[in-house]
Amino acid sequence: DREAHNRLVTPRTRADLDSITAYVPGKSYPGAIKLASNETTLGPLPSVRDAIADAAANANRYPDNGHVALIAALADHFGVTAANIAVGAGSVSLCQELVHATCNDGDEVMFAWRSFEAYPVVTSVAGAVPVTVPLTPDYRHDLDAMAAAVTDRTRLIFVCTPNNPTGPALSTDELERFLDAVPDRVVVALDEAYFEYNRSGADGLDLFRRYPNVVVLRTFSKAYGLAGLRVGYAIADPAVVTALSKVHIAFTVNAVAQAAAIASLAASGELLARTDGVVAERGRVRDALLAAGYEVPESAANFVYLPLGTRSGAFGAASAEAGVVLRPYGDDGVRITIGDPAENDAFLAFATSTEARSI
Ligand code: PMP
Repeated sequence: DREAHNRLVTPRTRADLDSITAYVPGKSYPGAIKLASNETTLGPLPSVRDAIADAAANANRYPDNGHVALIAALADHFGVTAANIAVGAGSVSLCQELVHATCNDGDEVMFAWRSFEAYPVVTSVAGAVPVTVPLTPDYRHDLDAMAAAVTDRTRLIFVCTPNNPTGPALSTDELERFLDAVPDRVVVALDEAYFEYNRSGADGLDLFRRYPNVVVLRTFSKAYGLAGLRVGYAIADPAVVTALSKVHIAFTVNAVAQAAAIASLAASGELLARTDGVVAERGRVRDALLAAGYEVPESAANFVYLPLGTRSGAFGAASAEAGVVLRPYGDDGVRITIGDPAENDAFLAFATSTEARSI
């Protein structure tokens, strides 16, 4: 009977998934100050809200699977052709699509560690092999070691700049040197999810124009404030864009997200002005933490990182208890999103408390 059947038979899934940990996002609880997921505190602008409402009213229709209007707006914005742009349900989707578009079973995907937690997941799930290269002692990419680790099986390299979760950005010189050392056949994805907060000058788009194997990944989730709608984009060689279109799951970028992204690009000046406030707060928070005796790597993004080692979990738990939710990373460190001044003050009050200092 059915009950006996349920007790005896486990439906079979891939055995290799047992060794893969699912992506775990930042958590929060009602009433907490959430500084765990690198979102903006500010909502979409009024013009973007109107576009969202209009698109939602037509939700009976499928979205444009070719993302034609959004791609035209992005092409115009960046001065590239429509054939250079792919759109995905957040740039995390494009990370996954890039692995599918470049790797067969057993091919290698390289990235620094620590870096964005989705890289190992999307690599292993696709049947590709993650190759990790440790960050330098100052929490930066070790690009020489990465270039030296390229093999005949390397198909894709993720370079996250500014690096999530540690913060440092790579310079144009460093990236040029790296791209000169890596074979042209290897796709190098410059993950610039935090590009709009980076004031150090390196611009993946400029490198893309000179190195056809560069793919620039950016998102509307962070500085544009659309994390909940899920839309990101890649700027790449047309051959890569075509490959991405083949592995893309149809209709995953919904109509509301596409409309909101188009309206956000039109309001780009206003939205990006907000990043100046975050950059100023980032400096204030980092200075206060340094003054309190913490080690804080330089950050070019909308977060700072405290390499607290084995104290990370307890620090994160105590902060959550005090009402401010952060993002601990195992026994490595804790990442703190820069919020508005009051939110940042609440975090600093915890971080400089005797309780936090004695963890
Ligand atoms: N890349 C990096 C480095 C990130 O930190 C994130 C978000 N945590 C993403 C990509 C994905 O962002 P989204 O899918 O929301 O565009």
